[in-house]
Amino acid sequence: MNNKKIFENIINKKTPSKIIYQDKKITAFNDISPKAPIHILIIPNKFIKNLNKITKKNLKILSHMIYMSKKIAKKKKINKSGYRIIINCNKDGGQKIKYLHIHLIGGKKLKNF
Ligand code: AMP
Repeated sequence: MNNKKIFENIINKKTPSKIIYQDKKITAFNDISPKAPIHILIIPNKFIKNLNKITKKNLKILSHMIYMSKKIAKKKKINKSGYRIIINCNKDGGQKIKYLHIHLIGGKKLKNF
């Protein structure tokens, strides 16, 4: 399976996953290998390879992903304690799945860089 297919199958529910939130534009689900008590991935339903592919034309989807990240953080009750969002891009950025995603991480004190 090519690796963008993994996320496509989560969106269309062909692969079982814990979906936290879904609307017409985005899907949020638990990371299979969590790095913290809360580790959720937020992805666009329509394929975008990575942050390099965000343009003025499709910027709205990224704002929606970020906006929903903070809403989910509140729903998970980590908005006050704090959390981090991360977007890895390409090889040096550590992007393994070639499908744009935001990592929403929290529920413990995260190390600084
Ligand atoms: P990245 O390294 O930024 O590309 O992050 C990819 C993330 O996808 C990693 O944190 C993986 O643990 C996660 N992941 C891979 N396969 C799945 C899956 N089937 N369900 C949920 N998360 C996944």
